[in-house]
Amino acid sequence: MAAKTCDLMIRNAHVVTCDAKGTKYPSGAIAVRGRDIVAVGRSADIEKTWRAGRTIDAGGSLVHPGLIDMHYHTTYHMVGKMIAEVDFGGQDPGPWVAKQYLGMIDALDDDLEYANVSLLGLDMLKSGVTTVMDPGSAFEPEMVRLASDALGFRASVADPFLMDERGPQLSRFKRAKFGRAHALKNLGRQLVRNKDPHAKVRGHISVYGMGNDSDELRLAAKKVADKAHVAFNMHQSQSVDDAEFDDRRFGRHPLVHFEDIGLLGKNCVFVHMNVLRPDEYGPVERSGLSIVWSPTNSWYYGARLQVKTPMPRLHKSGVNIAIGLDVSKAASFGDQMYTAYALARDQGEYVSPDDLLRMYSINGAKALGWSKWLGSIEAGKRADIVVRNSDVPEVWPRHNPVRQHVLLAKSRTVDTVIVDGEVLVKGGKLTRMDEAEIYARADAAGKTMRRAAGISG
Ligand SMILES: [Zn+2]
Repeated sequence: MAAKTCDLMIRNAHVVTCDAKGTKYPSGAIAVRGRDIVAVGRSADIEKTWRAGRTIDAGGSLVHPGLIDMHYHTTYHMVGKMIAEVDFGGQDPGPWVAKQYLGMIDALDDDLEYANVSLLGLDMLKSGVTTVMDPGSAFEPEMVRLASDALGFRASVADPFLMDERGPQLSRFKRAKFGRAHALKNLGRQLVRNKDPHAKVRGHISVYGMGNDSDELRLAAKKVADKAHVAFNMHQSQSVDDAEFDDRRFGRHPLVHFEDIGLLGKNCVFVHMNVLRPDEYGPVERSGLSIVWSPTNSWYYGARLQVKTPMPRLHKSGVNIAIGLDVSKAASFGDQMYTAYALARDQGEYVSPDDLLRMYSINGAKALGWSKWLGSIEAGKRADIVVRNSDVPEVWPRHNPVRQHVLLAKSRTVDTVIVDGEVLVKGGKLTRMDEAEIYARADAAGKTMRRAAGISG
């Protein structure tokens, strides 16, 4: 029998597929043709059946799906990294952080947004993150598309800053148009991106959330999302202050209110959700909504603002929990799964490394409504694949590859990153463009942003 042909084969790999059954092939291989995975299985079977144009030998190391970061303010990538380092002395860091952010965000023009997303793309890809969801905070979503064209990552974007009320959260940006008429008129403009089935940058619906929108706007946004079969995304209940603000305006707990007005559904993707009271678990579980857990955001703002994290418990009860970094301040993409693990352990709870890897891959695809074609290593899905290397001591002796790579080595073992069948990172280096060019642009942009915000140094 003649062998079938494919473009690329990854062999000698410990493949963790993140499929529904949790299938692993400790001695596995993957065949890729064009953009798609055409076969995955035991190395012996795949190598017998398929002839490949080129082969990657994984050296027995871990291979997993491309990671999906479900909450990242793409065009503020450098903002969080440039705020000053201070002791909050037990006080709420929120207002201080917001003030530092505001000057830098108000300085963002198209060129500066592009510089931010370019550096983000490099950071993501070298960390094995192949897809990012922006919550509608890129003033010009085309800058995300341009950076994606250059670097090759995937993203989902939304119409920027649809707000018609003022909440306690950061929302007063010079470039953000405020008001219900503007918001209702602009809902859904990014969805045109979904007409191209091969588009790397797609569209969903976001409102800012956490006090910045009315019931009317939220319901209108959800309706547009339902009609287009896309995700409806917003920030919600990050801290005790946010939840109590909603308690006052709704006269009840926000998730109870949202269920009652008919806002909740399977395409809802709510970010943070750290503060849930006992009567809010039911609405979350009954609706099938997805939560984006931001573990490093949680610890940055600290115990003062948080209650015990509900995520391990909700995960056990079957709620779809995904992961998002939000904005990189004192932690990066590689820290997400470790921090989530540590937060759970710290509270006497447990989420396994395998489940954390699922949260950061297939669960993100489910939340986006993309799981039919993305998020796991299965024949018929797009070839978004991360190949790890074994060049650090943390992954030896080779015994529990998922724990060793995602918790101990973090991003350090990301070697080869493939999106849509194309190798974008090889040997830890970007293939499509010169990394130095991105760094130079980032440095110049950083200087401009600091100057605008009056941040010295
Ligand atoms: Zn956010």
